[in-house]
Amino acid sequence: MNELHDFVDGLMTFQRPDHGSPQKSAFMLEHRVGLFITLLNLHNVGAISLGAEHPDPPESCDLCSKLLSGQPVFIDGQTQRDGNTQFSPWANMCSDCFMQEGRGIGWGVGQLYRGVITDGQEGWFLLGGGDPDGVSTPTEPWS
Ligand SMILES: [Zn+2]
Repeated sequence: MNELHDFVDGLMTFQRPDHGSPQKSAFMLEHRVGLFITLLNLHNVGAISLGAEHPDPPESCDLCSKLLSGQPVFIDGQTQRDGNTQFSPWANMCSDCFMQEGRGIGWGVGQLYRGVITDGQEGWFLLGGGDPDGVSTPTEPWS
């Protein structure tokens, strides 16, 4: 089996309704970069659309302080800090910090936002990791 086969096999294995098992968390962590690139490319080819606009987007990356304005994406997600567990702290991360310290894209682990400029105004729209049941808003994951 190759890496792509493992990735696709994992997608099939961990599709709903498996919510938050340790095995799924390990898959999301191991394949976070693959999920990130897949989501961006699915959007680039028009296969998936943008979701809700972030009502109060951050100005900079919480980890490296890079300004997010002008960046293509940011991730509101859990980090691998403080033991890399389900209790690790969350941060608004630029893509570089997400690659180094993010734990994944998915409900309960991280939301991917894409920057879009419309009529000169920058907005951030959900591209991945929202509530699969569509009940909660991305910025209120546990309500
Ligand atoms: Zn950063």
